[in-house]
Amino acid sequence: MVDLHVTPVGDVIEHDTSADGECVCGPTDKPVPRGDGSVCWIAIHHSLDGRERPQGETTLTVLLNERHLGEEA
Ligand SMILES: [Zn+2]
Repeated sequence: MVDLHVTPVGDVIEHDTSADGECVCGPTDKPVPRGDGSVCWIAIHHSLDGRERPQGETTLTVLLNERHLGEEA
């Protein structure tokens, strides 16, 4: 169960951000602690047009995933 979706703006594909949808980009679920002690889950979608925008840790996660995928290909 994901509370928020982070999708690349203007990507070449439509990202599936429905509650139980499976997006083709293989989004990464990431827990983010909230101030009240609960945890918010965000799904980080990956752009499929080869572009990434600097967004701190999010970008690092995306780059690591892409590098990993590249090694397997
Ligand atoms: Zn997606």
